Amino acid sequence: MTVRVPAKVNLQLSVGPLRDDGYHDLVNVFHAVSLADEVTATPAARLTVTVEAAPGSAVAVGGVPLDADNLAVRAALLVAEHLGVEPEAALRIRKAIPVAGGMAGGSADAAAALVACARLWDDREDPLLGRDDLLELGAVLGSDVPFALLGGTAVGLGRGERLTPALTRGTFHWVFATAGGGLSTPVVYAECDRLREANGEQAEPPGLPEVSEELMTALATGDAKGLGAALTNDLQAAALELRPSLRRTLTAGRDLGALGSLVSGSGPTCAFLTESAEHAADLAAALAGADTVREALPAHGPVPGAVII
Ligand code: ATP
Repeated sequence: MTVRVPAKVNLQLSVGPLRDDGYHDLVNVFHAVSLADEVTATPAARLTVTVEAAPGSAVAVGGVPLDADNLAVRAALLVAEHLGVEPEAALRIRKAIPVAGGMAGGSADAAAALVACARLWDDREDPLLGRDDLLELGAVLGSDVPFALLGGTAVGLGRGERLTPALTRGTFHWVFATAGGGLSTPVVYAECDRLREANGEQAEPPGLPEVSEELMTALATGDAKGLGAALTNDLQAAALELRPSLRRTLTAGRDLGALGSLVSGSGPTCAFLTESAEHAADLAAALAGADTVREALPAHGPVPGAVII
C-alpha cells in the first residue's frame, strides 16, 4: 500500500499572542504543492521504518528518526490502537520534502502512514476508520497533519488544525530553495516571541489574526501577481534572525523576477511565486547557482492531499 503525500507552503501565517497553554492562535493558509513524499506499508512481523531520498531527490534524510519518534511510526501505532490490531507493518518512506525545512514533511509522512496503515489493516468496503476519523487522528499527531490529508488550499484556524477549504482558480507555479541544515519549529516560535517582547509588542499583544481578503481574492481569481503581493509570514523575521543568510536567498529570487517570496513556515526553505511553469524552471536554474541555496526545486499547487497510488 503506497500513499503519496504533498508538502505545504503557508501563503499566510499570522501568529497571534502567546496563549496560556503555550500555543499561539494562528491564521494559517496552507497550500499543497507538488513536492511529495511516498510512504509504503507492507505486511511484516513487526513495525519497522526505513527512510531514503526519493529517486532523483537530493534531500538529506540523516535527521529523520528511525524509532517511535518518527511521526509515521506514531501514526501507524495510533491506527493499530484504534483498529484493535497488532501494528505489523514495514514502513518505507521515500522523501522529496526537505527535512526540518518548514514544509511539514514529517506531518506529511504521518498523514500518509495513517491512510496506508488504515487500508492495509482494514480492507473492508466500509472501513472502520473513515476520512473524518483519520482527520481526527491526524489532529492528535500534529497541527499540520489534517491538512496533509486534505490537500488543496485551506484556511487553518486555532492552532492551524481547524480547516476550511479555500476557493482557488487554476495552478500557481513555485520555486522552493532549500538550505543546508534545518530550523526547529519550536525554536523559531520562541524567537518570534523573543523578538516581539524585545520590540515591546508583548505588553500590548496584537488582537486575534484575521484572514487576508487580498489573499483570498487573489486565490479565487487565479491572480498570481496579486497572490505574490499578499504572501505574509509572521515567522519570517524570526527565521531570518536565526539564519541571516536567508535574506540573500530571498533577495536573489526577487532580483530574478519572482512575483512574491517568503520563508516557508518556520524555514529555512524559501518559496518564490512565478508567472508560469517556464518562469519557474528558469528561476530554479538561476537560483541553483546562489551560494546560500542547496537545491532550487520547481513545483506547482494546489495539489490533492494524501492519495493511494
Ligand atoms: P513544519 O513545517 O511542520 O514545522 P518541518 O518541515 O520544518 O515541519 P519536518 O521535516 O516535519 O520539519 O521535521 C521536523 C523534525 O521532525 C525533524 O527534525 C525530525 O527530527 C522529526 N521527524 C519525525 N518524523 C519525521 C519524518 N517522518 N520526516 C521528517 N522528520 C521527522
